[in-house]
Parts: sequence; C-alpha cells; structure tokens
Amino acid sequence: MSDSWPLLTVDLAAIEENARRTVEKCAAAGIQVWGVTKGMSAREEIARAMAAGGVAGLADSRLKNLVRLRAMKTGLPLTLLRIPMLSELPEAVQYADRSLISSPGAIEALERACAHSGKTHEVIVMVDLGDLREGVWMDDEEGIAQIAGTLNNCPRVEFAGVAANFGCFGGTLPTREKLIRLENIGRELERETGRPLSLVSGGSTSSLALLEKGMIPSGVNNLRIGEAILLGIDVTNSRSIPWLKQGTMWLEAEIVEIMRKPSAPVGPLGSDAFGGKPRFEDRGLRLRAIVAAGRQDVRIEGLTPELEGVRILGASSDHMILDAEDCPRSLALGDKLKFFPDYGAMLALATSPYVTYKMV
Ligand SMILES: *Cc1c(COP(=O)(O)O)cnc(C)c1O
Repeated sequence: MSDSWPLLTVDLAAIEENARRTVEKCAAAGIQVWGVTKGMSAREEIARAMAAGGVAGLADSRLKNLVRLRAMKTGLPLTLLRIPMLSELPEAVQYADRSLISSPGAIEALERACAHSGKTHEVIVMVDLGDLREGVWMDDEEGIAQIAGTLNNCPRVEFAGVAANFGCFGGTLPTREKLIRLENIGRELERETGRPLSLVSGGSTSSLALLEKGMIPSGVNNLRIGEAILLGIDVTNSRSIPWLKQGTMWLEAEIVEIMRKPSAPVGPLGSDAFGGKPRFEDRGLRLRAIVAAGRQDVRIEGLTPELEGVRILGASSDHMILDAEDCPRSLALGDKLKFFPDYGAMLALATSPYVTYKMV
C-alpha cells in the first residue's frame, strides 16, 4: 500500500533495543520485565519487537488487545493489567494467563468464571501505595484480610503475587520504603493463603529511576514496562532515560496551506470549536503552516516538532496550525513535517483510525 498521511513511522529496531537494554538492566537486579503493549494498541510488530528484546511476558490493559496478543502465539505469558470488569471475566479467563485484581467481589466472580470453563486463573493483588488509582489501600488491614479470606474460598483462583502503581493518577513517585511495604503485604497474603508469593511487581517505567540508584528492595522481582521501551521516556520523573533510545517513532503530517497571516484573530470573538476561549498574542504578520492532522489523530499538546523554529499554535479536529516564521528552512505546500509524540500523543495516534502506520 502506498503511504498516506498522517503517517506514524515506528523504528522497530529501536524498540527492540530498548526492550533488550531494559531487560538486561533489570536482570542484573533480579527483576523480570513484562512488556506493556497498550500504548501502541498491541500491534503485532511491536509485541514481537518486545519479545525479541527478551521480555518475560506481555501485558495490556485491554482484553481486546490480549485477544490479539494471544493470536500471535509468542509463547509469552499474558497479563491483563486493568482490574477486570465483571462482564469480561469469562473472556479474561480464556485469553489472559493472569489478571490484576483489587476486590473480593472480582475474585468470587473469577471463581465462577473458572468453574464454568474448567480453568484456573492466577491473580496479582493490586495494592494502593498512595497513587489513588486501583488497589486495596495499604493501611486497610481488614480489606487485605478479606482478600486473603476470599482467595481461600476460591480454589480455582490462584494467588500469584502483589503489584503497585505509581505515577498513574496521583503522580506519586516510587520509593524504597513503599516497595518494602508492598513486599510485606505480599508476605502477609502468602501466610494467610498458604500460597507462595511468586511475584512482587514494583511498578512501571517510573520505577527505573529507583533501579538505577540500586534502591529497589531485593524482594521486588518484576516490573511492567511500557513507556520506557516504546519511547525511552519517563514522564513521571520528567526525563529521557539516558541508557535508552528516544525518537523511536515520529508522526509526519502534510502541509495543506502556508501563508503569512495576522497572529491574532480579526473581528468579534466567541469560542473555538471545542468551547475554549483561546488567547492570542499579537505578534504582527507571521508565516503560518496548516498541516492535515488534528485532534481526531493525535493529542497535539504531546507533540514536539522536529524542525527548529516551528511552533504548534493549536488545532481543531482536522487542522493543526503552526507558526513557521522562525523556521530557517523554507517550507512549501505538500511538504511533510515531522513531530515526535509523548505517551499521550502516541496513545491517540495508535487508536485513531485515520493514522497510517509504517514499521521500519
Ligand atoms: C500502563 C500500565 C503499566 C505500564 O506503564 P508505563 O509507564 O508505560 O511503563 C504498568 N502497569 C499498569 C497496571 C498499567 O496500567
């Protein structure tokens, strides 16, 4: 198929290399890595690049993505990352090897789904260490005991370990103390259920900073890594990860208009197409380019233009407006401009039906 724009090009070798370096770095600390595919909607080439880089498993938040991963037959175990909807448990049992859970009710429903299909299913208990997304609250002794009791009454649901999130909702950073706390809660569940604590999953990309400092406690033996492998970035700690590759993928969008226009709108002002009241600084006449990509394709706030002197002014559904006055290169109608996405922009690109992919 011929290329069409907006076009997202992905450097698979860079992603494989990021996976390999992450796996090696973690292995040196006794930690296995699961590659998290949701940022790229579990596309097959991406999953295979992670597998080639040596990840010990694949994980995704969406059951639909796990169905796709299962069909790829990579041989790697698959984990459902989002605590499941009760309505998806029958399928979760079929497609995932294990799931993250936080509620006794989900364990009971899982037991029924397993009984129905004659299967067993591993669960990892999510513990909320302060980020305020999913998980049994770390101080909720009663809640933790209740989970243990429910596990004991559900023989087809096998306790496999504990996990925690950081930097997901509350923007919390992982600490050594919190991870020790996580392991201790895991040990408590191990005692109460009589099942071995085989997994202590100490977070995601944001935990790599702690790993670099040698601060991950020895009880932690798993990390679930998406952003670092896909982009080489750690947004929670606001940094590019120095031992990984950035620029692993880029968006190209085509210029459909390039004209010099006033920098402030002319006439009485209402709201923009999204109900916002944009503010403009009058900088006189400026060279502006419009590229054919908009909010239906990407989260524009998460894009960095490749060209020096190009600035993103805003976008509507289908048009992105750029200030190109300070760009030393001369731009013309039909030119393709490159942009590097952050995690949010990648997610939008991956889920937009209007974006074409190229894997190189
Ligand atoms: C998305 C997700 C991850 C991966 O996070 P990254 O920051 O991309 O490494 C890990 N665990 C859970 C539960 C997730 O939802």
